[in-house]
Amino acid sequence: MKTYGQYVSEDFEVHGNPFDFENDAPKPAIPNAATHKQIMYIVSLATKRGYDVRAMVAETDESGEIVLNASGECSPKITKKAASASIEKLRDPRSEIDAPKIDVKPVEKIELEDGMYRFNDRIFKVQHAVHGSGRQYAKELTQYDDGSWGFEIARGMIFKLRPEHKMTLEEAKEFGALYGTCCVCGRTLTNEASIEAGIGPICASKF
Ligand SMILES: [Zn+2]
Repeated sequence: MKTYGQYVSEDFEVHGNPFDFENDAPKPAIPNAATHKQIMYIVSLATKRGYDVRAMVAETDESGEIVLNASGECSPKITKKAASASIEKLRDPRSEIDAPKIDVKPVEKIELEDGMYRFNDRIFKVQHAVHGSGRQYAKELTQYDDGSWGFEIARGMIFKLRPEHKMTLEEAKEFGALYGTCCVCGRTLTNEASIEAGIGPICASKF
């Protein structure tokens, strides 16, 4: 028979102590690992020369971005010594670099219909800028501290939203019924018919 305490301490040895926040500190994957500063310097020097060395010098995610831990540090894949050598090489404009070239793919922008979208339980309004660029952008329906609702610019969301995220009138009505607010304009539903419908008549006509 083991006591609860024994189970816990043995588990911690195997899986790590979940309450040990030190675990979030940078863990050098290799002995004498390069510092975060060195890695970032290498990446910036290489980028200036048109090379993508991120995956060669640090842990990256599937999109190729360097993974940072909670303290904003990366997990180096090379030693301090190797990092110094790389830095020296990269700083010499005549040196030859054996690394993949930077892939400059423009972010794919899918044409969306203006309107209301739902993505990960967040609601967005997609519209075209009236003045200036005329570009399409997204705003997020946001609840403020006083309980009122409004729209805040949601940078980058226009690239994440897809036609299949478009809200149906039924979904807009469900939101209105739940929050007493019209999700299209953010106004509190006051008119009896609108409260019943979960949306104002003008906003409903936009679906
Ligand atoms: Zn409305």
